Amino acid sequence: MSLTKQDVLNMAKEANVKFIRLQFTDIFGIPKNVAIPVDQLGKALDGELMFDGSSIEGFVRIEESDQYLRPDPNTFTVFPWRPRDGSVARLICDVYTPDEEPFAGCPRCTLQKVLKEAEEMGYSVNVGPEAEFFLFHTDESGRPTTITHDQGGYFDLSPVDLGENARRDMVMTLQEMGFEIEASHHEVAVGQHEIDFKYDEALATADKLITFKFVVRTIAQRHGLHATFMPKPIFGINGSGMHTHQSLFKNGENIFYDPNGPRQMSEEAYHYIGGILQHAPAFTAITNPTVNSYKRLVPGYEAPVYLAWSEKNRSPLIRIPARRGVGTRVEVRSPDPSANPYLALAVMIKAGLDGIKNKTQAPAPVDKNIYDLTEKQREELKIASLPGSLKEALNELENNVLIREALGTHTFNRFITAKRIEYQDYEMKVHQWELDNYLAKF
Ligand code: GLN
Ligand code: MG
Ligand code: MG
Ligand code: MG
Repeated sequence: MSLTKQDVLNMAKEANVKFIRLQFTDIFGIPKNVAIPVDQLGKALDGELMFDGSSIEGFVRIEESDQYLRPDPNTFTVFPWRPRDGSVARLICDVYTPDEEPFAGCPRCTLQKVLKEAEEMGYSVNVGPEAEFFLFHTDESGRPTTITHDQGGYFDLSPVDLGENARRDMVMTLQEMGFEIEASHHEVAVGQHEIDFKYDEALATADKLITFKFVVRTIAQRHGLHATFMPKPIFGINGSGMHTHQSLFKNGENIFYDPNGPRQMSEEAYHYIGGILQHAPAFTAITNPTVNSYKRLVPGYEAPVYLAWSEKNRSPLIRIPARRGVGTRVEVRSPDPSANPYLALAVMIKAGLDGIKNKTQAPAPVDKNIYDLTEKQREELKIASLPGSLKEALNELENNVLIREALGTHTFNRFITAKRIEYQDYEMKVHQWELDNYLAKF
């Protein structure tokens, strides 16, 4: 699908759109927007709308704050929950500098740069994510709690409850916005849900993830619930992941599939796995960017802890789902939905492509439950671990030249600086655990 300026103008008119939200994200993937009346749409589509980026996280210094929004016509969508008469639509934008260059702090541009590299190698990249989330009640003043009344578990069919109703409404809204929903189900933990939409080209998938999170939260709110993509809201039960299925296509063919290769996988597939495993310690700060992310990446809750791959087991970082042919793919299981989808896809794809370029060897698969292995057994199998904290992850990131190149120096530096401040703040605060363990004892 490739829409023109005129298509968008026509669609806006047909849907009786009165306002357009021009969206983009900061380096943390937080959506920002400027609303314009529909009579400004033509000008906006010509990329003539300027805004002041100085207060946006990861954007520029005060003295060079003028930036331009270039909407991508393919992202035009009407918000279905708004009144039909005088409706609101959105366009997702790239951020450009006054010199007509992609702005170095624009995450969408960062992903496009990596995809260009893939294209130069002859590949288009397909990505399918599984973003999990919790639905919680809010308190009297509307603030989110961690209370859920649902008693459901994995794929459970519960008597129709608030959560199920909200989830159905989310699915219908997403469908109205053009998503092809493949499945939605209750997840393992109480109050936890998953909605899966069909894979798409990487940029479209990243755009969809931004929209997805926004829709899920908006619809939850309309049902009096709070949806959270926080990776580990409750200790002792599963956290929320964002498994990311990835495959490369060349001339319409999935190049990870080779009917004659070992496990019917091609050399490129093995090298892609090799690249992901090599750079995972460094890209984890991007795919798992919060202090809380590392409370999910612990043994026992279906989240990966170890740098390994498998066809069957779900404890390693990478799983190869059974599907072959056009559906052959690599599922990276470490990312969580607090990640900026543009940057998360950019760093993973960059790592995989690097594996292909350098013919990086994938280690042998580990088809046992790694959670059950002792440290010594893991050492013998040469299975290393993912970073154990945001601090460790940032140290790994800081020393990786390839991931720096993927992010660009501006984003790389801004991200690390901001996240170090975040970590320091966390380290200095006194947490409930300390009070529980020390207050009475000492
Ligand atoms: N919630 C798990 C995670 O943290 C995944 C569970 C599943 O999808 N099987 O990744
Ligand atoms: Mg799933
Ligand atoms: Mg799941
Ligand atoms: Mg999965």
